Amino acid sequence: MRPLAKGWCPGAYTPMASGDGLIVRLRPRLSRLSLQQGLDICDLAERHGTGVIEITSKANLQLRGIRQEQYEDILNALLALGLLDETAEIESRHNIVLAPDWEQGSLSQTLAEEFYERLPELPELPAKFSFALDVGKTRRLAAVSSDIRMEQSENGAVLVCADGAEMGLSVPPNDAITAAIKLAHWFAKTGVAEHKRMQAHLQTQVLPDEWQTQARTSHDAPLAPGPSDIGFVLGVPFGQTDSKHLRQLLLSHTPRAIRLTPWRSLILEGTGHIKTPHFIVNHTDTLLAVQACPGAPSCTSATVETRNLARALAGQTSGILHVSGCSKGCAHPKAADITLVRENGQFSLIKKGCSWDEPSRKGLSADEILNSTDVL
Ligand code: SF4
Repeated sequence: MRPLAKGWCPGAYTPMASGDGLIVRLRPRLSRLSLQQGLDICDLAERHGTGVIEITSKANLQLRGIRQEQYEDILNALLALGLLDETAEIESRHNIVLAPDWEQGSLSQTLAEEFYERLPELPELPAKFSFALDVGKTRRLAAVSSDIRMEQSENGAVLVCADGAEMGLSVPPNDAITAAIKLAHWFAKTGVAEHKRMQAHLQTQVLPDEWQTQARTSHDAPLAPGPSDIGFVLGVPFGQTDSKHLRQLLLSHTPRAIRLTPWRSLILEGTGHIKTPHFIVNHTDTLLAVQACPGAPSCTSATVETRNLARALAGQTSGILHVSGCSKGCAHPKAADITLVRENGQFSLIKKGCSWDEPSRKGLSADEILNSTDVL
């Protein structure tokens, strides 16, 4: 059975204590930082913490290892940088992922800005409940976890969909945010405590017909590392980098701005080809098929480091490989082709399943996994 997740997500106002200090998560508007903000974040991460910077699967940015006694200082600095929501309550509602290749002045940008303005109109929602704004020419976010989706519809309309439904409601663009807020209120009114996400909710609750008037498309094209129309896309291995490497990257290429993506990558606006050993620059890189949580010592639930094993196994398995410090499976809370979970000092192996599923083998050492040809 899936272990219970924490009932809340860290923010800047609500940092989470971890094995290496506080985790302070920022939710930059439009998932975009100016070059100067990016450089200032590197300085803050170093001055107040371990320098570790992470990109989350919701296109947010988090600083790890922040020292408790310096928390107020970092909060004031983030406020001065314009990277904080007005209040903790607004921050907790600020859960939207935007297809990252939006253009200046586009419908994506207009709707995102309207959504931010209207955050106070949202009902109280579970911490992980989120919105996806995917109204660009190409659909990008079909595989990104979200509860209410706004997608491109016919003739410039917007399809507002409950995640898990095959159809949505087509509305003129001006009405899209109103419709998304209305659907969130329907969820909140009909929700039951154990259904924290829309898809689970629809297993027991019938979605009213008004929300199912037009079929969705199945097309999906996430942005892979490499060149793109708006700048070079760089994968961040395991979603984690540090202030030194990020600063070096920004100073060498001086992008107009940095965009964060839900695929744990960065887009450096206006840049051409980039060569760097610290980021993933090619869509064929085998690390892209490997997921691993921070493990020990960053996480108090872990007894072992996970990413060295994950790196060593990159390219040795077919499909997605997930190495997890415990059965919660934070890095990949869904099925993978191969999952290795640390339990009682050894690894357990799960094939085509989640980290909390019954393993097919237990008691494996890292050496055995690395050196035997018949384990994976
Ligand atoms: S999966 Fe990894 S990061 Fe998540 S709680 Fe377990 S050890 Fe910690």
